[in-house]
Amino acid sequence: MTETMPTADPAFEAAYQAAQKSLNEGGIPIGAALARAGEVIASGHNERVQHGDPIAHGEMSALRAAGRQKSYRDTTLYTTLAPCAMCTGTIIQFKIPRVVVGEAETFPGEFELLRSRGVEVIVLDDQRCVDMMRAFQDEHPELWAEDIAED
Ligand SMILES: [Zn+2]
Repeated sequence: MTETMPTADPAFEAAYQAAQKSLNEGGIPIGAALARAGEVIASGHNERVQHGDPIAHGEMSALRAAGRQKSYRDTTLYTTLAPCAMCTGTIIQFKIPRVVVGEAETFPGEFELLRSRGVEVIVLDDQRCVDMMRAFQDEHPELWAEDIAED
């Protein structure tokens, strides 16, 4: 019962909705949102398929959509899936102090690296995100492999 209930956090919901939008467009269902003091600044989703852009992971798209920020030190990045090495590097570079992750079951991400650089990582274990990624990985194994640079 609790597995399918949405979290109360509107910024995480924005990330989840962005992932769903990408899925509906035939894209990779990973979404992200940047928030400050609980307010969503911007959200985005993976655009590898939609724009042929291999760098446009969900986190990168959300940060691009947020535009220039004087500081990220008071922001939180929400993402439906554990961040990869590229997105982790960007989080560290921008000095984003906190990352809220939907799930890390279908992809482990780079938590160790994030935490080693002082980034707080919170994992929601959101079952909707796990189900969404599992279904996608089963249906499009080659596309998933391409996105995480696996042969
Ligand atoms: Zn990434």
